[in-house]
Amino acid sequence: MIRRKFMMKTIKDCYKGSVAKSIADFEKWVVDNADLNAVVKTMVSYKHDVSKNVEQPLAGVPFSIKDNFATKDEVTAAGCNLLKNFIPNYSAHVFEKLISFGAIPVAKTTLDELAMGGTGMHSNTGVVKNPLDKSRISGGSSGGSAAMVGGGGVPFSIGSDTGDSIRRPASYCGVVGFKPSWSAVSRWGLFDFSPSFDTVGWFTNSIEDSANLFNLLKGHDERDYTSYSGEIKNVSLKTSNSKHTIGVIEEVYDSIQNPQIKESFDNVLEKLQKKHNVVKVSIKKELLEAMLPCYMIIVFAEATSCNSNLDGINFGTRIDGNNYIDTMIKTRTKNFGELVKKRFVIGSYSLKRQNQEKLYLKAKKIRTLLIKAIENVFKKCDGFVFPAAAEVAPKIEDMNNKKVQLADMKDILSDALLLANFAGLPSITIPMTQIKKMPVGISVNSDVFQEDKCFNIAKEIEKVI
Ligand code: GLN
Repeated sequence: MIRRKFMMKTIKDCYKGSVAKSIADFEKWVVDNADLNAVVKTMVSYKHDVSKNVEQPLAGVPFSIKDNFATKDEVTAAGCNLLKNFIPNYSAHVFEKLISFGAIPVAKTTLDELAMGGTGMHSNTGVVKNPLDKSRISGGSSGGSAAMVGGGGVPFSIGSDTGDSIRRPASYCGVVGFKPSWSAVSRWGLFDFSPSFDTVGWFTNSIEDSANLFNLLKGHDERDYTSYSGEIKNVSLKTSNSKHTIGVIEEVYDSIQNPQIKESFDNVLEKLQKKHNVVKVSIKKELLEAMLPCYMIIVFAEATSCNSNLDGINFGTRIDGNNYIDTMIKTRTKNFGELVKKRFVIGSYSLKRQNQEKLYLKAKKIRTLLIKAIENVFKKCDGFVFPAAAEVAPKIEDMNNKKVQLADMKDILSDALLLANFAGLPSITIPMTQIKKMPVGISVNSDVFQEDKCFNIAKEIEKVI
């Protein structure tokens, strides 16, 4: 694994450690790293009974969680001014489960408002900086979680991934970022962004930790009817000489522009070829180019609908107006950021009765075509790979000079992480190389509920890096 300048804290390092020491270490970390802006709120005084879980698999292991997961009696604002006083009376499923496994919550992490965005620059509490170079972005939307793991604050952090929100920041911050198959982990208590794309996932400093968390967190939860009720295979990382067929999507490969990223990716493929089968696969360029517009139509429409309760009446910091409509307009105009408002306008437009056929339903048909194309890819390989980012983390200054975009992805390679959300695939980013000391990851994707293959291919790649 590529070494970074920070200590790579793993779950094993912290397991059954002293809770008091973990908390003291974390408190020091927060002070020393305040300028990262990764933490919205520390949770070190969160009430839970540690003594009950001392023999559990995550006993004493500190973790943080993105602030769009509900935490009982603790403000959960999701990076949004409208929710800045919202205190849920329930906790998210994953949060409860981690505590029952003995893990110690230490912080809620900064995110792009309502999980929309890919830079870490769109939170109501400011920009999240990259722990490896503070003049650069962390990526987003789960930027705070990525920065905390990358900066040595915690061995793991929970995030959410609707398009790439775990796996691109993982590339920028040099950590392991994983999203499971859609529905493999309960979304109960995760604020909906786009339910047909949303997944709970996590950042770690090792593939092993990520796989262990999957084995612990997967499974049906009756409070989330969309969580899968069948058996989901455990991941077991094999030490034996298992051989895989690894696909490279030609059209994605052809869109790699950075020569150093290309060289490093070629190098990985060449080494893999010695033991495994590396094969070319294909998805029509037109379909790949249609992916981002379709993502924007479906996801913004779902987001508009799911967030329509944020009106200052049912929820949120109200700004009073002359009547219901006026109150709602004032509340939403003042309390949402520019990016979120832009997305709600597009979402409302494609949901209008007269536009549904030509926009929303058409985008869903293209989604089906993409899913079929991906099914065909899996007839030829166990998993496909590509660089997880087109570049290293951009400079904050350069991003500041740009107007707020509707979405930050724009070329086939940058959009390729979306494939996993379109088709509900498990997908992992692990560090691949460094360019001028900044990391770039590689993305491994396998078929739905084939997490075992995804992790084992990632492990094989790690061996040759
Ligand atoms: N960057 C993507 C977007 O802005 C994905 C966000 C996410 O995965 N939450 O929509």
